[in-house]
Amino acid sequence: MVKVLAVLYSGGKAAQEESRLFGTIENRLGFGDWLESEGHEFIVTDDKEGPHSVFQKHIVDADILVTTPFHPAYVTKEIIAKAKNLKLAVTAGVGSDHIDLNAANERKITVAEVSGSNVVSVAEHVVMTMLVLVRNFVPAHEQIVAHDWNVAQIARNAFDIEGKTIGTIGAGRIGYRVLQRLEAFNPKELLWFDYTDLPADAAAAIKARRVATLDELLSTCDVITVNCPLHEGTKGLIDEKAIAKMKKGAWLVNTARGAIVKREAVVEALKSGHLAGYGGDVWDVQPAPKDHPWRDMRNPLGGGNAMVAHYSGTTLDAQVRYANGAKDIIQRYLAGKPQEPANVIVENGGYATRAYGQRK
Ligand code: NAD
Repeated sequence: MVKVLAVLYSGGKAAQEESRLFGTIENRLGFGDWLESEGHEFIVTDDKEGPHSVFQKHIVDADILVTTPFHPAYVTKEIIAKAKNLKLAVTAGVGSDHIDLNAANERKITVAEVSGSNVVSVAEHVVMTMLVLVRNFVPAHEQIVAHDWNVAQIARNAFDIEGKTIGTIGAGRIGYRVLQRLEAFNPKELLWFDYTDLPADAAAAIKARRVATLDELLSTCDVITVNCPLHEGTKGLIDEKAIAKMKKGAWLVNTARGAIVKREAVVEALKSGHLAGYGGDVWDVQPAPKDHPWRDMRNPLGGGNAMVAHYSGTTLDAQVRYANGAKDIIQRYLAGKPQEPANVIVENGGYATRAYGQRK
C-alpha cells in the first residue's frame, strides 16, 4: 500500500456539473476510485500554501506526489527535505519547473510528466493569442459589450498575420506545432531558436529557418512566442534588455511559464508602446494575485492585453490525456515497470531530458 498525495485545483460547481474536469479535486483525475480499490491511500487537496497547508501536512509521508502546472504546488528544496518517503513526483500535464529538480536529483526522486499530452491544446492557444493581439480583438469586443461602435478606434491598431515574421523560442513539441499551424497564414518568414536541432524532415516540412542566436530572433520578428521550459537558463530570459532588442510594436506571446519573462519589463514595454501586445496564460505566481499588473496593463491605444488564467493546456480534450497519462505513470511505478522514456524528466539522480537546460 502506498500513499499518494495529489494537489489539484478546485472545480467547485463546474466540476460537479462537468465530470470531464478530471484535473479538479472533485474529480480526482478520474482514477481516485481505482487507486483506493487497489488498497492505496489517496489524499487530494487544493490547499497548497504555507506550512499548515494540507499539502505540507501530507507531504511528510507521501510515497507519490501528483501535481499540476495549472495550480502548482511549489516543491522546494525545503519541502523535498521534509518528504522523507517521496519516490515519484508526477506532473499531470507538461512542465515540472514547480519542482526543484536539482533537489529531487539529490534525493534520487523520479520526476515524470505526461509529455505531449496537451501540446496541441497549447499550440492552438498560441495561434489564437497571436490573432487576438495582432487583430486588436479584445478592445473590439469590449467596445461591443459596452454598447459602443467605433470602427476607426479599433482598426487604427489592427493588422494581419499574413506577411509578418514570426519566431519561437524553443522548437520542441509545442513550438514546432505552432510553426506548423502558422504556415497556413502565409507569413513572411517563420524562425526558430533552440539549442536542440529538429530532425531534418521535420525542419523541412515547416519551411522555417533556424537562427543561431536569440538576439537575431528578437530583432527580426514581428511576433515572438515563448515555448521553452522554465529552468536556470530561461528564468528572466526576456527582460528589459531582451525586449529593447525587439522591434518597436512587436507582439509577445508566452504560454510557457510566467517567470521566463520579467513582470515589470513587460508592464513598462506595453505602457510605452514598445510592445504592442502581450498575451498568454502563465504567470510568475499562480493563482495570480488580484493586483498582478499583467491583469490590467494596456498599450497606449487601450489594447494589447491577451492574458487569461492558466488553461491553454487544460481543455477537456487535454484533461483526458493527462489524467490517463498520470495513471499510467503510477501504474508503471506500482508494477515496477520502467517509465516511458519521453515522460521522464529526472531519474536516478540525473536529468533524463535535454529540454531543461544544457548540462554536461
Ligand atoms: P519540449 O520538451 O517538447 O520542448 C521544449 C524545447 O525547448 C526543447 O526543444 C528545448 O531544447 C528547448 N529549450 C530549452 N531551453 C531553451 C532555451 N534556453 N532557448 C531555446 N530553446 C530552449 O516541451 P513542450 O511540450 O514543447 O513544452 C514546452 C513548455 O511549455 C513546457 O516545459 C511548459 O513549461 C510549457 N507548457 C505550458 C502549458 C500551458 O498550459 N500553458 C502546457 C504545456 C506546456
